Order: sequence, then C-alpha cells, then structure tokens
Amino acid sequence: MKRFAGETPIGRKRRARKMARLLADTHPDAHCELDFTTPLELAVATILSAQTTDVRVNQVTPVLFRKYRSAADYASADRAEMEAVLRPTGFFRAKTNSLISLGQELLASHGGELPGKLDELVKLPGIGRKTANVILGNAFGVPGITVDTHFRRLTNRFGWVREDDPVKIESLVADLIEKRDWTMLSHRVIFHGRRVCHARKPACGACTLAAACPSFGTGPTEAAPAAKLLKGPRARELAVAAGVDPELVPAAAVLASPDADES
Ligand code: SF4
Repeated sequence: MKRFAGETPIGRKRRARKMARLLADTHPDAHCELDFTTPLELAVATILSAQTTDVRVNQVTPVLFRKYRSAADYASADRAEMEAVLRPTGFFRAKTNSLISLGQELLASHGGELPGKLDELVKLPGIGRKTANVILGNAFGVPGITVDTHFRRLTNRFGWVREDDPVKIESLVADLIEKRDWTMLSHRVIFHGRRVCHARKPACGACTLAAACPSFGTGPTEAAPAAKLLKGPRARELAVAAGVDPELVPAAAVLASPDADES
C-alpha cells in the first residue's frame, strides 16, 4: 500500500473517519438487508443467511415466520416440515437443527426470549459473534460491528487493518470509528462491497472513496469500464456521486441484484 505508506495512527484514524463519512453520503439507503420484525425473527434470518444470499432468505422467511412465531414453536417443530421450508437456503438439515435447538435453549434458559447481551447470545445454538453483533445492532439498538466477508475484504483494502481474523478486525475498527456509528458503518461497508468494491473486480474508477483508498487500482481506474461494474438499483446515482457519467452504467447493472455477488 504505497499510497499511504508513511501514515501515522492519527492520520489513519482521520482518513478512516473521512471514508466513513463518504460511505454515509454514498449509501444513504444502507440498512440490514434481512427482513424481520422481532429479535427472534432477525436471529433466525441471520442463521439462515449462512452460505446463501439475503434475497434467498427473504423469500423463505415469510412462510417460516407465519408458521413459527415463538421460541416454543421452533422448539417443538416437526423436523421434516421445517426442512421442507428451509430447503431453498441450502444446508437445510443443519439449519433446521440450529433453529430447533435455538428454540429449546431459549425456552430452557431465557424464558423464551432472545437475550440482548453479546456473551449470552454467543452461547446460543447457531449464533456466533457475527450473528450476535447483527442482532444487537439491528434488533436491540446496541452498537455492533459485523465482520462478514465484505467487511473483512474492504477494511483491508481501505488500509484500516491488515488482518484476517474477524475478532481482531472488530477491535481494530472499534478503535478507529466512534461507537455510535458502528452498526450503520457495518451496513454501509457491506453495501459498498456488494455494489462497488467487489471481490474480483472492484469499480475503482467509479468509486467515491478513490482519493482516500490505498487500494485504488485494484480494479479498472478508467470511468467507462469501472461504471460497468457498479451494481444495483442506485448504480447510476453511485456513478454520479463518484463524478462519472451515469450513461456509462448499462441497464443490466441497474437490474442486477447486489446480493448475488461473491460473498
Ligand atoms: S478505490 Fe477500488 S479498492 Fe478502494 S474502495 Fe473503491 S473500489 Fe474498493
């Protein structure tokens, strides 16, 4: 990362906060892309999102949530019936096991309610640290940093961390960004990863973070090829925000699901 090679820790923190502000301007629509109305529904949706897309999960959960409304419903579920509902999300047997065990454990230890504390959430079946932070941030309003594959890739590209371990990334980013911004930062970084800074070919030449990013040049830097890589319904607005002619964004890019990329 030659571009910011001599950067001091204070310089990195300033640049990280500037990039966080740019991300907020770039993705005003950033939010949790899983549909839910209660903490339990979010926990279930997050468990189901392993190895599949949020779009796929959102197709399955309306049926699931109508059928299973409480921890007791999950605890006493008929395994074959639940497997049939979960089948489109992949790994449906393991996911069925997790949901039934989650219901049983919530009944046994938490009066059927999902706890709002990290140390209690991570002890529940199917809930790791990433899932717990999603639940805390989005269902309980407790600031949380969600380190998924996009967050890990982008924070390394941003030069905020040089680290692969999610727990270490979480604590390093926590030192750079104010706590009150953690949940929304997570959504914005993940949005950027799905729409602009893709794993294989990031749209560097159409990226609002270009001037502050040490990895500028990882993808095409010319406007025309970069604009073709933008994805999602706001692809043309993303181009304008980066100072790129929106006519360079093909119609297919606007229609492309930002969820369907390599994650
Ligand atoms: S400049 Fe390139 S590598 Fe950096 S954030 Fe933008 S798309 Fe990603």
